[in-house]
Amino acid sequence: MTKIIIVGAGTAGMACAIRAAGCGAQVVVIEKDSQVGGTLHLTAGHMSAGGTKRQAERGIVDSPQQHYDDVMRISNHTANPDVVRLATQLAPQTIDWLQENGFPFEPNTPQFIYGHTPYQTARTHWGTTSYSGTEIKWAGSAIFDTMKPLWDKYVTEGKIELHLNTRMVSIAQEGNGWEVAIEKKVEEEEAARALQSVELKNNNATTARAAPSKLNTQNVVLTTGGYGSNPDFFHKMHPNWRLVSTARHTSTGDGALAAMAVGAQFWNADKHTATLGGLETEPNSGRTDFWKNWGRVSNSMDRKPREIYVNAHGRRFMDENLNDPDPREKAAEAQPDRKFWVIFDEKALHEEGGCLIPQWAPDRLAAEAENGVFAWKANSISELAKKTRLDEGTLEQTVARFNTFVTHQRDEDFGRTYLQNTVSQAPFYAILTHCFSLVTFGGLAVNAQLQVIDNQQQPIEGLYAAGEIVGGGATCGHAFVGGMFLTPALSFGRYLGQKLATF
Ligand SMILES: Cc1cc2nc3c(=O)[nH]c(=O)nc-3n(C[C@H](O)[C@H](O)[C@H](O)COP(=O)(O)OP(=O)(O)OC[C@H]3O[C@@H](n4cnc5c(N)ncnc54)[C@H](O)[C@@H]3O)c2cc1C
Repeated sequence: MTKIIIVGAGTAGMACAIRAAGCGAQVVVIEKDSQVGGTLHLTAGHMSAGGTKRQAERGIVDSPQQHYDDVMRISNHTANPDVVRLATQLAPQTIDWLQENGFPFEPNTPQFIYGHTPYQTARTHWGTTSYSGTEIKWAGSAIFDTMKPLWDKYVTEGKIELHLNTRMVSIAQEGNGWEVAIEKKVEEEEAARALQSVELKNNNATTARAAPSKLNTQNVVLTTGGYGSNPDFFHKMHPNWRLVSTARHTSTGDGALAAMAVGAQFWNADKHTATLGGLETEPNSGRTDFWKNWGRVSNSMDRKPREIYVNAHGRRFMDENLNDPDPREKAAEAQPDRKFWVIFDEKALHEEGGCLIPQWAPDRLAAEAENGVFAWKANSISELAKKTRLDEGTLEQTVARFNTFVTHQRDEDFGRTYLQNTVSQAPFYAILTHCFSLVTFGGLAVNAQLQVIDNQQQPIEGLYAAGEIVGGGATCGHAFVGGMFLTPALSFGRYLGQKLATF
């Protein structure tokens, strides 16, 4: 019998397997993708930890307790205390481990960051962004690049038995342990040899799926990630949300679904929290791209707003200059369809301080607005209203009222104090932005030992979970807490790797 089966070789799964193999265990890793790394290939790479060597080297006084207190403060005490306690205790060891293995810290880190409600201490660590030819490797790649040599070593030594292109289909309790059903994606010819059981799913038949096979084990660790790329599952868990997502294509909630089929409890669906500024460049696709098409509307620390935001009624709904992302997120999520239009004029388009879409130049934005798909350009506010299908009279009134606030330097509706620009110089622009899913907040309920628990709050013997499969609601509550997805994914993976190896 195999000692540990890890399902999913992403952030948590890689960390888990490396740790388990390092502790002498025999590990089998099932990965449905053709490569390992999962969301590490996409993530921004911000990791939070209190009490790291890196902080000490830079004279920053911090501790797991201070980190814990700050997480609970930011989450307004809605995060799970046991899970946060474990995450914050393990976090500095995780960062120290990365450092020992040559992690290339961005020189000025750890730092404060303002994309989420800031911590009270500089405890966000991240790696360098690198460029290879025209391809940018975001900071998350630094984590992958640090773990990959260790991974390769254990795979080469046979301590990690890796099954790529292999999907876990289901899990079932079998005797004292678990039976994991897997399905391997194979080349067509090979699949054809698998006789009657071949299920040809792909019309152009470059690949096919062979018959499921089964693996047995005492302990299964589910590290399959979130469910932001599974609209059906997402809608079931969040019936009032329309999914616009930037999650990796592999984040389809497979592990959560498999565990729920054997009685696991799903928690924290009510804590789902969106990220602001997603552009759905293909309307109704339900997809946005955080790295290419993202509007800077989530805080005003790194870019002052020269725009106004209006909802589907054509009305403003918040102080666009609020620094703290949390009340901004909550205000935007309360709007119809969780979307809003950013309205500005020609003068604002060219103002210094960076374009609304950080990866674009103002000319690109203007050109997209000419196309009128998700951005619009018009010679008057009434024409802009017609193009965006916002109520003409209301939009005109909203803009005129805001301009009066600028003239009198007093926003009577939302108390905005940054009132530098009227919206008055044609042409005028509108961009439709969505509250989108960067990560998912619901997930498998676990106890403080990361055992998956059932609906009667009892641990399910031999079934463990780590990473986004546990859901951001556990580590962040009903708020975004910086770095509280990545560091816990790595830490919990490592924790389970060691625990199960020495079981
Ligand atoms: C754009 C973006 C930016 C982010 N930035 C940050 C940040 O700065 N800080 C932060 O804390 N968090 C951030 N996050 C979130 C964080 O990166 C993720 O929550 C974390 O990396 C998820 O790790 P994981 O191990 O749970 O899942 P993943 O890394 O996604 O790994 C899951 C793996 O399981 C595999 N898998 C899935 N189903 C199966 C199956 N049935 N059988 C076999 N294998 C399967 C997948 O192919 C994948 O390789 C960001 C996320 C995104 C999308």
